[in-house]
Amino acid sequence: MSSGQRRVALVTGSTSGIGLAISRRFALSGHDVIITGIAEQEAIDKILDEFKNYKVRCSYVGGDFTKEEDMMKLCKDITAIYPEGIDILINNAGFQHVCSIDEYPIDIWNKMVAVHLTASFLLIKYFVPYMKKKGWGRIVNTSSQMGLISTPGKTPYSAVKAALIGLAKGTALETAEYGITCNAICPGYVETDLVTKQIHVMAEKEEKSFEQKRNEFFGSVHPSKKPVTVEQVSGLVLYLCSDDAASTTGSAISIDGGYTAQ
Ligand code: NAD
Repeated sequence: MSSGQRRVALVTGSTSGIGLAISRRFALSGHDVIITGIAEQEAIDKILDEFKNYKVRCSYVGGDFTKEEDMMKLCKDITAIYPEGIDILINNAGFQHVCSIDEYPIDIWNKMVAVHLTASFLLIKYFVPYMKKKGWGRIVNTSSQMGLISTPGKTPYSAVKAALIGLAKGTALETAEYGITCNAICPGYVETDLVTKQIHVMAEKEEKSFEQKRNEFFGSVHPSKKPVTVEQVSGLVLYLCSDDAASTTGSAISIDGGYTAQ
């Protein structure tokens, strides 16, 4: 942090996977971190215990992102901890549901829109005024390679991930004069719960062991023949949230081992 200030980062969906890695990276570089997500109390306590080692303030603020009232309470709970609001917002909470469009359940579509898109919209709407007042802010939406292209079974996921790019572009234009940037990142396959669940389903369908399918999948899906790692994604996010990235706004940045270059 070149400003020497301790900045406050809210990372949604940070009880596991990419969000947890981003939070860890922020804490290790001296930012206060607010963790959110749905997890057992034991898992949350374990994260809070780990973060005590990083000598920054780390808070967990709960809420189910499918519920607007939870979102409003989460915003209020955060401003009770930080009356001047946050400096960095990472809209990262999400989940996957693979199913053809003709059989896709409407309740899962609604949940998909709520968790990925409406929650991000509400958090941007709520926290941008605080960032404008500070004259500094960083927002990153975790989109996906599926926000740039699609694949059968992931149509609603692609729809919300593409919308997160639009949300980033519009927000970037509306906030550019205020020292605020807003970007979307588009990761390829990262080995987290969200993807291992999909590999389990594929392995079962193809009557293969999980390990065999895992190696086949990551050995072929990206031109790099490797999964994207949570460390690589968190490194990109840290850069986008630095002072050096002040001119990078309204971008959709791929980090996908070449997947969308094909
Ligand atoms: P993950 O399952 O490890 O983490 C998802 C996080 O979102 C968890 O903290 C979970 O509690 C939270 N979440 C889910 N539903 C929620 C709800 N209703 N309310 C509040 N929080 C909720 O998965 P991940 O791979 O780390 O995914 C993080 C983000 O990255 C997601 O937006 C995902 O779409 C995106 N992404 C993942 C990949 C990948 O390959 N893993 C690739 C591109 C984009």
